[in-house]
Amino acid sequence: MKILRTLADLTTCISSLKKSDKQIGFVPTMGALHEGHLSLLDVCNTKSDVSVVSIYINPTQFNDPQDFINYPKTLDADLAKLKDRKCDIVFVPDPGEIASDYLAKPFALNGLDTVLEGYYRKGHFNGVINIVSLLFELVKPDISFFGEKDYQQLAIIKAMVKALDFPIEIYACPTMREADGLAMSSRNLRLSPYYRNKAAKIYEVLNQAKLLKADLSPSQVKDWVYERINEEKDFKIEYFTIANSLTLQNIHSWETSIQMRALIAVYCDGVRLIDNIEF
Ligand code: AMP
Repeated sequence: MKILRTLADLTTCISSLKKSDKQIGFVPTMGALHEGHLSLLDVCNTKSDVSVVSIYINPTQFNDPQDFINYPKTLDADLAKLKDRKCDIVFVPDPGEIASDYLAKPFALNGLDTVLEGYYRKGHFNGVINIVSLLFELVKPDISFFGEKDYQQLAIIKAMVKALDFPIEIYACPTMREADGLAMSSRNLRLSPYYRNKAAKIYEVLNQAKLLKADLSPSQVKDWVYERINEEKDFKIEYFTIANSLTLQNIHSWETSIQMRALIAVYCDGVRLIDNIEF
């Protein structure tokens, strides 16, 4: 496994791979790696000749400076996990070399970025687009892997690739969960054992809500979810939406002709957790 830390080393390495016509697979991450990230790497290894993982905690996508400070940093353990799992190249850029205002050109997202995470975390998706477009320019992947765990991010990256004409396939990977259903997340490390145990309720409630579709309207399901989550001590729901899977706009009645997704954000003892399921 090659560990590259400078843009110059990465550029040299990528040009030589391109000359030998290798298919490059790419998994961008912010580290604190868990089985969710590693599942993306596993798929990447089966679908490309060379796997590249980046580890970079991107400050521009944190709307809350305290969240950035608290974000877990576990580089040595991350590198050991990647080596164990088979990764060809890890790119760990020096923050000093990463431009915070890199963005090829503005493009329309047709409302994908103004709802949900975009509404509650102002500037978050600008930061994501900024870093992912820069990494795409540098790594020049043929295919790049993103988790459905961050469903809105996945939709925005797909829209970005189309709008900016990146010759890259975006491959969606399913959400990996703990045995009790909690979506794996680097932020789970910040939960105390008590709240870690309680946090499984988020996925449980999402699944129960789906069963209520037969009897309740979307707004009644929404009220039911708010009540179930907020009744837990130190849980506070930030949003729960049932949306059109493609546009992410809220739906007001059950429609059989479109795919729907339920998306949720919950503060659990101050730790912000997100999840989503097909609805
Ligand atoms: P992050 O390090 O949180 O920026 O995540 C890097 C990539 O891993 C993103 O594409 C995430 O959607 C994906 N990811 C994070 N958690 C999971 C999970 N539990 N299952 C599948 N993919 C995940």
